Amino acid sequence: MTDIALPEALASAHKRLERALDEAGRPHDAAMLLAVSKTRPAERLRQAYAAGQRAFGESYLQEARDKQAALADLDDIVWHFIGPLQSNKTRAVAEHFDWVHSVDRLKVARRLDEQRPAGLAPLNVCLQVNVSGEDAKSGVSPDALVELARSVDQLANVRLRGVMAIPAPADTRAAQQRPFAELRSCLERLQKALPDAPLDTLSMGMSGDLEAAVQEGATQVRLGTAIFGQRPPG
Ligand SMILES: *Cc1c(COP(=O)(O)O)cnc(C)c1O
Repeated sequence: MTDIALPEALASAHKRLERALDEAGRPHDAAMLLAVSKTRPAERLRQAYAAGQRAFGESYLQEARDKQAALADLDDIVWHFIGPLQSNKTRAVAEHFDWVHSVDRLKVARRLDEQRPAGLAPLNVCLQVNVSGEDAKSGVSPDALVELARSVDQLANVRLRGVMAIPAPADTRAAQQRPFAELRSCLERLQKALPDAPLDTLSMGMSGDLEAAVQEGATQVRLGTAIFGQRPPG
């Protein structure tokens, strides 16, 4: 595994995001950088934290819980759950995360709502959409999105913030932009259907396609490799 020096890698990721925002004619505060730290040891997250990073994205619950325990002294970390979410994992996510990007069915949203502890702010939720060219089996179809959003928006202990997608890697800029444009129009459709919901989030763009996502309006880009180096295979 390439052990990139964390502060330098993080700084160049921020530069890359700013350059993409410049190119898109958007202000530098229009999108934030989520550090995707799945498979990285807690010590690497601590280095990123020391370099100023606060938002971390994790995909595997037990691994994330171990790191949260190891980093319990860093109490202003904002934890985002971005992995597939089964019903039997919702309680720990509701109790220990600030955001979930991967809600794709009502049953999971209802459980998160019921299990969110009373003392905590509502859980921020994005609906994962299966846009065209999607690799993953997860994600609500664009056709079913508005109906799901209407139901999720009624839940008191979750805040419906927007949509997320994980398009398959594509070689050309045009092919990268197409699913991101589709996701943007999904968000616009939700904003029309639910004018009072706090829908401000387009979670899209990873290390390989950040520029295309920012061009199409991403507000949260999820960078793993670009910050922490290559993940070990397997
Ligand atoms: C791993 C992962 C990322 C980060 O991917 P990189 O290519 O390493 O930047 C982003 N989003 C999700 C949902 C992921 O699982």
